[in-house]
Formats: sequence, C-alpha cells, structure tokens
Amino acid sequence: MRKIAAHYLITSGRLLNRAVVSLDDDGVVTSVEENVEDIDSICGVEFYNGILIPGMVNCHCHLEYSYVKGMIPPHKGLPVFIDSIIDIKKRNEVSDEQKTASADIWDDVMYNEGITAVGDHNNNDYVYSVKKKSRIHYHSFVELFDMDGKSAEETFRWGLDRVKTSLQYGIEATIAPHADYTMEERLIRLTGGEDALEDGTRADGLCSVHFKESVVLGGPDERRLILGSISDRRDGVLLVHCIYATEEDISAAREKFGDKLTVVPCPLSNLYIEQRLPDIEMMKRLGVRIALGTDSLSSNTVLSMVEEMRCLQEHLNLPLTEVVKYATENGAVALGIDSWAGTVEVGKRPGLVLLSGVDPETMRLTEKSKGRRLI
Ligand SMILES: [Zn+2]
Repeated sequence: MRKIAAHYLITSGRLLNRAVVSLDDDGVVTSVEENVEDIDSICGVEFYNGILIPGMVNCHCHLEYSYVKGMIPPHKGLPVFIDSIIDIKKRNEVSDEQKTASADIWDDVMYNEGITAVGDHNNNDYVYSVKKKSRIHYHSFVELFDMDGKSAEETFRWGLDRVKTSLQYGIEATIAPHADYTMEERLIRLTGGEDALEDGTRADGLCSVHFKESVVLGGPDERRLILGSISDRRDGVLLVHCIYATEEDISAAREKFGDKLTVVPCPLSNLYIEQRLPDIEMMKRLGVRIALGTDSLSSNTVLSMVEEMRCLQEHLNLPLTEVVKYATENGAVALGIDSWAGTVEVGKRPGLVLLSGVDPETMRLTEKSKGRRLI
C-alpha cells in the first residue's frame, strides 16, 4: 500500500489540485483525493514536487529498429528515408544479438520514463524475447509488405505465423498492413481483413497502418486502398502519421470506423522525416480520437512520450491536460486496454508517473521536463 501526493494530478483530461493517490501492493488504485490540505507533510504520504499522470501509452513504435539510431540523417523526406532503411537491412552489418541489445536498452528507457504500454510494429521475431521479459505491455502489430518472390497469400500466411510466434511468447499480436506504397492491393485487403483466404482465414483484432505520410510515395488512390481494405469488423483502427491527411480523408475514416478510429501522429518523427506536423486542429474539429507515438529511433533521437507532448505544445499551443490525454487515456482506448490503463481511477492499475520541469505559470512542458515512473 502506497499513498502518493503531488501539487497536481492530470487524469481523464482534468487537472486536480493537491492530489493524493492510494494504491495497493499490485499497483491498483484504491482512492483518489483532491484539494487535500498540507499534502507535503502528512504521515505515511510520499510527496513529490510536480504533476502526477497515469502511465503513458506509446501507440506507435518499431522497437526492432532501435539499432538504427543516428544512422539516417533528418529532413530528407520519406523516399530517401525508406531507401536508407532498405539499404541498412540489406547491408546486414548488425547481428541479431546487437539488435536485441539495443531494443532491450530502449525498452528499459521507455519503462523508466513512465511508458506503460506500446503499440509496436515488427517484421522480425528477434524482438519478441525483449517484449516477453519487459515490464511494458506490448501489442505487436505484425506488419506486412510485398516480399520478393512471394504471393500475397504466401506473405499473409507468413505474417500469421509471426502472429502465432508473438502469442506463444505471451504478447498480444495482430496482423497489420505497412502502407499503400509497399503493398499490392490483394495483400492490403488480406491484412486489412476485407478479403479472406480460400479457407476463410481473415485478419481480425486491432489494426494499425501508416497513412498519408508522404505526398511523393502515397499514391492518389491511398485513401480508397487503405480505408477500403480494412474491415470495419476489426476491433480498432490506428491511422499512423496522417501528415498529409485532409479533412476528407479523416472524415471518410471516421465514417467507416466510427469510434473505433484513432489517429496517431508521431510529432518528432514527422518533423525528422518530413519537417511537417499533421493538421491536428482539423482532427480536433472533426472530433476524432488523437493518440501519440514515438515511431522508431531510425527517425527520432529518443523514445520519449514527454518529448512528443512537448513538441506538440511548442508547435500548437495545446493545453497540458489535452496533450497528456493524448499520451495516456486516448492511447489506452486505442489499444483496447482502457479497462486497466490510461487513467488514474479506482480499480485500475495504470502506473503512476511524476512529470517534472513543467513551467508552473504557463503549465507548459520545458526543456527540463522529464517523466519518472513512481509505480
Ligand atoms: Zn512507423
């Protein structure tokens, strides 16, 4: 049993003053109090200088690319970026052991910052050993794209095997299309779940796909191909990046998927590759759920949700309560784990994070802002 107090608690889009959170030995919240007097001097209550928030949810990452950190220069645009990734994979100069070691280090960094859950795309199996022993909850999105010499059906079956492997490791997993520019239509439709194999096998569960991330690579037909190929029977749909998504794109997605839709900008990665952020004001206007991702270290210098929130606040002047909601509750809903994560509420075990270095006058994140896991 722990009682943890701070000047503020941000949860469910609200700012609570002088809050005390009580948790049992399993980290389950047993009470939340606000406007508590003398919180810094109550016997048995740990007091912290800063803001408490629930454990954060990173909705888009490729942990397996942690070893690529610093290898690809920024601001070159998506086509050069993709060529660089393909080249690094082809050169194959990094062993699986080294790749696993990098993933391991960054998994730890994310956990300590206060990231509780990650929606993680992967194409390889080596990263499962890291996810298995991690204290982070992972959802593996087994990401598919056209493979040399393989038919769409063969690639799809290969992906289903990767899903099976992830499940054998005890990690939730579903199949996901990579993007319209790396896949033939039949494969997008199989991975999206609109088409099934002859024996009736069909992709289901959560789906996550890179969408509208380049004006050069994404074809004119991208909206039809992606939205038309993902079945509205899937549990939830994450449209990742959406840098160039228009109001028509997001409205069409909203119409098809309703409340199952989440858009997932990755602000620092979006700036790293395309030097541009998605139109978040438009997404807000349309009332679509917004969550955040770090993307991978091939297009970011850190895997930090605090830095992602700071980037959004810097560029769009959003209130802290709102960006925290993107980074916590909305991500938990997107990954279907909001029954236990995303908000500090009695009965949940969301983890508890101390956010420090926030300017108390403006309630804005600063260069000194940091997340530190308390629970
Ligand atoms: Zn990605």
